[in-house]
Amino acid sequence: MTHIDPDLRREVINRAGNCCEYCLLSQEDYPFTFHIEHIIAEKHRGKTAFDNLCVSCPDCNVYKGSDLSPVDKKSGEIVTLFNPRKHRWRDHFRLNGAEIELLTPEGRVTVFLLRFNNPERLTERKFLMQLGRYPCQPQA
Ligand SMILES: [Zn+2]
Repeated sequence: MTHIDPDLRREVINRAGNCCEYCLLSQEDYPFTFHIEHIIAEKHRGKTAFDNLCVSCPDCNVYKGSDLSPVDKKSGEIVTLFNPRKHRWRDHFRLNGAEIELLTPEGRVTVFLLRFNNPERLTERKFLMQLGRYPCQPQA
């Protein structure tokens, strides 16, 4: 894993309001440290730069891996994943209770690949919603 300068790391975390930029979980509600994720993976020549980094919970990061453009099961087309630097979350997803619903093909491949609605993740979000702690609200 590439070393990320502590100042850069802090700026990325501040921009995200300490939220996972994919599933909107807060770092404060998660037992393990969130990752600073390369949106375009280093193996695809993604840079360690402010515009290519985001905050990701370990679940989203592990499921995403270095993928960029999965095949959309519905259309059979190659579709780019949701990119927190290029897309607005609410344009691609919406919450129905704790379930993250898709609004676009980008949303569909992301919901599927990152397994947003796995039963244990849904249970966790329902619980956090009852406490008024989900979704995490980035300051920006
Ligand atoms: Zn996440």
